[in-house]
Amino acid sequence: MLPVKDRFHIPEGLIYLDGNSLGPLPKSVPARVGEAVQKEWGQSLIRGWNSEGWMAQPARLGDRIGDFVGAPTGTTVLGDTLSLKVYQALAAALSMRPTRKVILSDTGNFPTDLYMAEGLSSMLGRDHELRLVDPTDVTAAITDEVAVVMLTHVDYRTGRMHDMNAITQAAHNAGAVMIWDLAHSAGAVPVDLTASHCDFAVGCTYKYLNGGPGAPAFIYVRPDLIETIDPALSGWLGHDAPFAFEPGYRPAPSIERMRVGTPPVLQMTALEAALDVWDGITMQDIRAASIALCDLFIAEVENRCPELTLVSPRDANARGSQVSFAFDHGYATMQALIAAGVIGDFRAPNIMRFGFTPLFIDAGDVTEAAQRLEHIIKTKAYEAPEYQIRNRVT
Ligand SMILES: *Cc1c(COP(=O)(O)O)cnc(C)c1O
Repeated sequence: MLPVKDRFHIPEGLIYLDGNSLGPLPKSVPARVGEAVQKEWGQSLIRGWNSEGWMAQPARLGDRIGDFVGAPTGTTVLGDTLSLKVYQALAAALSMRPTRKVILSDTGNFPTDLYMAEGLSSMLGRDHELRLVDPTDVTAAITDEVAVVMLTHVDYRTGRMHDMNAITQAAHNAGAVMIWDLAHSAGAVPVDLTASHCDFAVGCTYKYLNGGPGAPAFIYVRPDLIETIDPALSGWLGHDAPFAFEPGYRPAPSIERMRVGTPPVLQMTALEAALDVWDGITMQDIRAASIALCDLFIAEVENRCPELTLVSPRDANARGSQVSFAFDHGYATMQALIAAGVIGDFRAPNIMRFGFTPLFIDAGDVTEAAQRLEHIIKTKAYEAPEYQIRNRVT
């Protein structure tokens, strides 16, 4: 069944190993977005909020995204960006443990998650401490001082994957609230939020879910908690009756209380159409193919390019759907590789990162990418001056 390359627009000859940062364009998207612009916006105008179902989109899409991460109907909603969804989840979690002061995370977490925690703590002014430990030390660091354990399931830099169920259990045993960031998990690895019993999960849809640049984020709240959450971002579309225009805030009795303001309808329409590429494909199919591709890439690169050092776990069970290598000339090498038609990305200080998305990558692509990389390293093509210039986005 896999890959289903013909469901995507991928430029001829390009090997795209960056679907973990920005998924490629599904062929189903342009016509659907065109129709949403011309017909829905153009003709329906303001009536579109009702007639085209725009207002229901965030919850409808939440249920579809929920299927990817084992979240039952009515527990997930779309909107805003992931940074904001982290803020909402963390604010709610901290208010559930008012006497505890520690937010526990790890040094592998994505900076925006940590920055949002810092900003929220200083805004609350209640002396919260953001405590960061090595990813391998998380379980041991879960003490009864900890209010919230906030982790990204798959490390954006190394691809190292936490044991979601075991860590959630440890957090709950210590009386802490558990938040998982699924940015590099949703659409990449099987996730079962219900089985994990975690309190909150958040994630984005422009990575493995191919929703396009700026696609909205999602937030999941465990069903028994939804009605107890006091939303920190108390926007009108999370109100029980937005069009009653009451002067006071009253949260919706459903997951919709995690909505804030007007949803990005065109982005959500793009995402909704993009999800068609998953027809007939299960996360189990994806996981099996992803492990095979990652294992092959590791073997090929280690064989051809001994100068590079694997920084991802060798054990597939401890790894998400990406592989990273450290190399001192990593930035310039990645620029040279992109010029040679293989797109990966670079993460400071020296990490070359490659995402494997079995929807459109096969074993032939993996071998070809490793060959092009070998050529650049052997010929030191990365020394060319044009590859030394740092772009704003790496
Ligand atoms: C990609 C990513 C983000 C991005 O946040 P935005 O607000 O969507 O820009 C946040 N957290 C993690 C863990 C990520 O991987």
